[in-house]
Amino acid sequence: MLEGRVALITGAGKGIGKEIALELARNGAKCVINYASSSAGAEDTVAQIREMGQEACAYKCDVSDATAVQEMVADVLKNYGRIDILVNNAGITKDNLVMAMKEEEFDAVMDINLKGAFHCIKAVTKPMMKQRYGRIINITSIVGLIGNAGQANYAASKAGLIGMTKSVARELATRNITVNAVAPGFIQTDMTDVLPDSVKEQLLSQIPMKKLGETKDIANAVCFFADEKAAYITGQVLSVNGGMAM
Ligand code: NAP
Repeated sequence: MLEGRVALITGAGKGIGKEIALELARNGAKCVINYASSSAGAEDTVAQIREMGQEACAYKCDVSDATAVQEMVADVLKNYGRIDILVNNAGITKDNLVMAMKEEEFDAVMDINLKGAFHCIKAVTKPMMKQRYGRIINITSIVGLIGNAGQANYAASKAGLIGMTKSVARELATRNITVNAVAPGFIQTDMTDVLPDSVKEQLLSQIPMKKLGETKDIANAVCFFADEKAAYITGQVLSVNGGMAM
């Protein structure tokens, strides 16, 4: 249980991030709902959490902007006094075959998916070290583990996130701060809704469970890492993919 814990979840106005925030709140955490453009979604997440009798607020911030992230973390510390749980969930895709991929498409994905997580981790590290407690959970992807044609930028960002997870886990292990990653397979959200039916069918054929995952499947895995019971687990990647990669 997470009573009294303060969680910052990036990209929590919709999709997987929203469900992570709701599940952390159900487990007792106060939640800061970061968003970039989904203001209505972020306000809805906050409203649902408040209905549970739990504290929540929405905070607009582009995670690729280092200064904005520092300001967000400073504000959260001012308002809540601590940050116990950071979930780096914000992410985008800009798919293209590598020979057609523009440098801007590569950079945009790296700036948000990888550098955004770096900015957030860097900003929370000092307060977590001071309070001698922290849970950092990075949302990577099956694509970071096995690659995917048309997603060289996305796969590089998600594989990079795994390397960063393991490195930071080693740096912070003695401070009672764990750093882990969750690697979703194909989960039903806006990100996968845009895929053509033929691609979805082909993906389904590769999933032993023969169905897409749901956002709650990822939220449950995040809550597992956030819980006191996972205190001796760090530097790990938990795949949640219906058996798609083993
Ligand atoms: P989604 O519905 O498209 O949500 C993406 C989230 O990222 C949105 O909340 C968005 O916020 C946020 N975001 C994007 N750019 C941002 C920025 N610069 N600053 C702050 N937030 C930003 O996709 P999703 O499926 O829920 O994806 C969530 C995470 O899971 C991503 O990291 C994704 O790579 C990962 N993942 C998803 C799948 C899948 O099958 N769906 C599989 C593997 C991994 P705004 O809407 O406010 O802009």
